[in-house]
Formats: sequence, structure tokens, C-alpha cells
Amino acid sequence: MLVVMKPHATEAEIEAVVEKIRTLGLTPHPIPGAQRVAIGVTGNKGSLDTGQFETMPGVADAIRVSQPFKLVSREVKEEDTVIDVGGVPLGGNALAVMAGPCSVESREQILETAHAVKAAGARFLRGGAFKPRTSPYEFQGLAEEGLKLLALAREETGLKVITEVMDAETLPMVADYADVLQIGARNMQNFSLMKHLGRLRKPVLLKRGPAATLKEWLMAAEYVVAGGNYQVALCERGIRTFETMTRNTLDLNAVPVLKALTHLPVIVDPSHGIGLRAHVAAMARAGIAAGADGIIVEVHPHPDRALSDGQQSLTPREFEDLMKQVRVIAGALGRAV
Ligand code: PEP
Ligand code: MN
Repeated sequence: MLVVMKPHATEAEIEAVVEKIRTLGLTPHPIPGAQRVAIGVTGNKGSLDTGQFETMPGVADAIRVSQPFKLVSREVKEEDTVIDVGGVPLGGNALAVMAGPCSVESREQILETAHAVKAAGARFLRGGAFKPRTSPYEFQGLAEEGLKLLALAREETGLKVITEVMDAETLPMVADYADVLQIGARNMQNFSLMKHLGRLRKPVLLKRGPAATLKEWLMAAEYVVAGGNYQVALCERGIRTFETMTRNTLDLNAVPVLKALTHLPVIVDPSHGIGLRAHVAAMARAGIAAGADGIIVEVHPHPDRALSDGQQSLTPREFEDLMKQVRVIAGALGRAV
């Protein structure tokens, strides 16, 4: 349920509603808006009697939320969520551009990439230190050493660091180094991990599971937000279909549909979405044209020598060219980069 306060409701009136929700053994989620405050209510098993709130001072309305995902829905919060990543916005009018190698491989590799993507206009550096590889015999990432190298690159460039966390065991360590925690596609429905993320106060980029519906994906995000961590962004990275010419099928339908259903920022990952270097830029442009709030792109100084995902990594030069096109498309849409 959502309790919508009147535009001029006082702090005391808001607090009284919050207290009442707690007294019922439920969880209040105050959501400030441009016009008025609303308070999401979670934790009820059956449907709640709206009348008990409608009569309280300062309350404009109490409404049932029709979607199964509540706190992430547009019904509950009309305004787009803008996550403040240490001064850099994720969501809102400005496009968030994240770029870097699939995996952190060495000091030289990550520093060279960081400087290059920063010069081209990225504000976030991506790079995996814990890699979810299909084969246990493939490069698994540099672990904490990789996180240290990301921190060094942040220090040198001022870029914000986004990196994957694979499990609850390494979460405290990864959270210590990362500005944004990336949750990989394979972990989207790891509900135990989602609950751990809900207890943190750190931005999360939740990638779509390779076979997840939009509803399942939004329900996974709901786990994190219901835990009290409201800083969640979604990332479309392609789904598995019958097609074998491309690595995945980048589902750009998801972008406008999600933008209507949820207030969370939506990012597009064209690299994993198509898996072919020659076509990554086209899908990045398409993602932005479809209304995404940003892109996350794999860039490697020497893709042919990359320890993971070289086949889909752009060279710094290709990324620079892409950024020029991104600026033109962003301009046409009235968005900043
Ligand atoms: C990655 O970003 O390198 C990655 C492993 O992505 P995904 O979880 O989408 O496969
Ligand atoms: Mn990758």
C-alpha cells in the first residue's frame, strides 16, 4: 500500500503515519517527491484496510499498489530515481557512461584503460576482480589485488569504480573498494545475496538474468529496496534466445517498458548483449535512442590479448568514436553526457 500525504503535510503528520505503520508490525518507506511525500508500506501478508490511514491528519489518499513489485514501481514513486555516486549521477537527465575491461588484469592494463575512457568522457570505470566464468579453468579474476588496482585507477583519474560482487562472503571486501556494486546476470535471483545488498547503503547495478522476465527482474530489485537500500539501477545485458549468431539477444524492448514500470535507472550493456566488437557501438547507440539512462561498455587496450571477453571489447579508439556518436544522440534527446 501507498500512503500519499497532502502537499503541505507537516513533519509531525508524516511521523504519525510512519509510527502507525510500525505499530501494525509493518515497514514504512518514506519517499520524498517534488510535490508531496508518500510512504510505501511493506510487510503485510494480506491486503490492508486503507480507511485507517485515509482519516489521519495530513493524508491525501491511501492506495493499493496493483503491481507485485511495490517500492520500485512508478505507481509508488513518479519521479526518476537519481543515485548520487559520490557526486556523479546515475539516473536522471545526464547519461551515465561506464567503461573498462571485462576483467582487471594488471596495473598497466587498468591504468591505461582508465585514462583512455576518462579522456573519451566516461565517468565510471568498470572491471571485474571476481569473474563468474562458465569454465572453472578460465581466468577467475585477480580478487583483492584487482580491487586494489581499481582503487588506484580511481585515485589517478577520479573515475567511480563499478565492479562485480559474486557472493555474500566477499561482499564486505568488495563494498570497501567499489563505488557501485555490480550484480552479475547469473546472480540476479540469488535472493540471499539480494537481502545482504538490502542491508548495505551502497549503489547496486542489478543485471538481468539471461532467462529472467521483466517481472522477475523487478522482483529481484524489490528485494534490495525492501531491505532499505534504495540505490538500485537495472542493467539490460541480453537474454538467451534461439539465435546463435550473437552471444545474447539485447532486449531493447525492456528499456521503454521498464521506464514506464519503474523509477529506477536503466542501463544498457551492448557488449554482453551482442558479444561482437564490430556491432557493440550500434547497439550502444540503439540503447540510448531507446531511452536508457546510460551504457556500460567493455574496453581493452589490446582486445586480442584480453583474458576475458576480448571478442566483444572495444579498443580505446573505438570507444572514443562511440562517445562522439553518443553525444549527438544524447543531444537529440535533450540529455546531457
Ligand atoms: C561482465 O560484466 O563482465 C559480466 C560477467 O556480465 P554478465 O553478468 O551480464 O554476464
Ligand atoms: Mn565481460
